[in-house]
Amino acid sequence: MIQLIKGFRDILPSDVPLWQHIEKTAIELFEAYGFAEMRIPIMEKTELFARSIGETTDIVEKEMYTFADRQAASKKGDTLLTLRPEATASIVRAYIQHKMYAGDPLHKLYMTGPMFRRERPQKGRTRQFQQVGAEVFGAAGPDTDAELLAMCQRVWRRLGLHGLRLEVNSLGTAEERAAFRTELHAYLSVRKDDLDEDSRRRLDRNPMRILDSKNPRMQALLSEAPVLHDFLGPESLAHFAEFRRLLERLDVTYVVNPRLVRGLDYYSHTVFEWITDALGAQGTVCAGGRYDGLVEIQGGKPWPGVGFAMGQERLVELMRQKSEPTVPAPHLYLVMAGAGAVGGGLQLAERLRDEVPGLRIQSNLGGGSFKAQFKRADRSGADLALVLGEDELNAGNASIKHLREQKPQEQVAFADLANWLARWLQGAAGDPQPAADGVQ
Ligand code: ATP
Ligand code: MG
Repeated sequence: MIQLIKGFRDILPSDVPLWQHIEKTAIELFEAYGFAEMRIPIMEKTELFARSIGETTDIVEKEMYTFADRQAASKKGDTLLTLRPEATASIVRAYIQHKMYAGDPLHKLYMTGPMFRRERPQKGRTRQFQQVGAEVFGAAGPDTDAELLAMCQRVWRRLGLHGLRLEVNSLGTAEERAAFRTELHAYLSVRKDDLDEDSRRRLDRNPMRILDSKNPRMQALLSEAPVLHDFLGPESLAHFAEFRRLLERLDVTYVVNPRLVRGLDYYSHTVFEWITDALGAQGTVCAGGRYDGLVEIQGGKPWPGVGFAMGQERLVELMRQKSEPTVPAPHLYLVMAGAGAVGGGLQLAERLRDEVPGLRIQSNLGGGSFKAQFKRADRSGADLALVLGEDELNAGNASIKHLREQKPQEQVAFADLANWLARWLQGAAGDPQPAADGVQ
């Protein structure tokens, strides 16, 4: 038997409702904030990610799935392609390529889909994972950043997820960061012998990444290190202060984490992460920030952007801790007694699908005795069984049995059936539902 690739996973039907619920909730809210969906390919030229994300980042150094795409013999050299490790680089590419900046300067885009990173598989980390992300182009102010975070908070509330912590920081401009990097590098170089292996490797290539080392010994060593905040100029400080003031106005609670740097090079000014303590070491469920330099890095004119990505696996895990997912059961199970009833039964089911939109009908397929069919009806979780024998077909009547309630069986004429079921469906929808999760 050929097994699944290491670090990849299947999502079985019993789990899918949770995935769909998260996607649907996020998309509905994004659209309510004026975002439109963007779909991008799952592969790009390797160069796009290398240049956007940064040559010295973990992703580009060691995590990308890259392969040579064979060229026609007449052409020189193969093209290197990479399965996308994240979406922002591609969205920016498409944004420039389609000249979307022309016309309306403001664009709010969202996307969902799989990402690929060849990391060590562990709890909270797979090699294919699913993100739901949003990006705003054309607005440089902190109002955009703050509204994005209010939108994230609304997603958490709608999903009934409480206790997520928002950490924010400002990375300033590229020049401010460069000055800080020099100082930090000097500070760490003196202490080189005390650095762990990971940090030593990062020292010359990307010393800022040492700041978010999970090693407590590194954190202790950093206690006296220069702080990025002290390198920010007046404009960056004002941007950050206004961002925080707006978060407060919008009731978005946050903490400033002065060591939050994020793993991708393209960020500037605002960066943030939503973190939970309920998932162990990999607790970041959503992360993002501003990337005002990225459009230019990719060859466009300078153009502001800000966005985030939610990691759906981790959200699913959190949701699962609250409740088990449920696959929606059929409303109606169609029991057909005798081979003669199958044609009429399937035809009736089609008619009901036309006439009662929203009604979930499961027809009994594969025959079986009356008893066997009722057993399946029960196992399906259906509320009603509609029984069709040859007698019923001849008389033009169906028998309806309530499977979950103590109610007598009912006879309904075919002509009235659609009305009867529509009324029943309304009643079922009007029943008190289990309390909705959190604030709506
Ligand atoms: P992390 O510190 O978790 O590695 P990152 O900086 O690599 O984060 P981003 O590129 O910002 O992550 O991705 C955004 C979100 O996507 C993460 O917060 C996380 O929820 C999810 N994510 C990233 N990598 C993985 C992975 N390998 N498996 C599952 N989810 C992931
Ligand atoms: Mg990572």
